[in-house]
Amino acid sequence: MARIFDTAKSTLALCRRKRFLLSQLKIYPDCLRASLVERFSPCGKANCHCHHGGDKHGPFYYLTQCLAVGTINKFLLKAPAQQQAARQAIEHYHQLQEQLEELSQINAELLRREHRLGGD
Ligand SMILES: [Zn+2]
Repeated sequence: MARIFDTAKSTLALCRRKRFLLSQLKIYPDCLRASLVERFSPCGKANCHCHHGGDKHGPFYYLTQCLAVGTINKFLLKAPAQQQAARQAIEHYHQLQEQLEELSQINAELLRREHRLGGD
């Protein structure tokens, strides 16, 4: 669900905010829409402590990406550098998504007020 931004401002303030958002918009080359999931799992050895009440192995980090309902792209990120790259890439995607969402909500409000949406 989208975060709800405050659009109960004057049209002038909304237009100012919109100009600011547009000036801040940046598409990072590593943009990645996905989640990083941490898992602890039992191993394949039946006599291991993890099968007898001991701690499971991990953490293991998986990147998961929902492509469609029921279709998930998921793989293990083995190297710490991969995990760090994934964290940053996902954060960059979220930043962009938030900025676009706020711009979109401002535009909806401007449209409701019969204000033009194009650039000035
Ligand atoms: Zn084990």
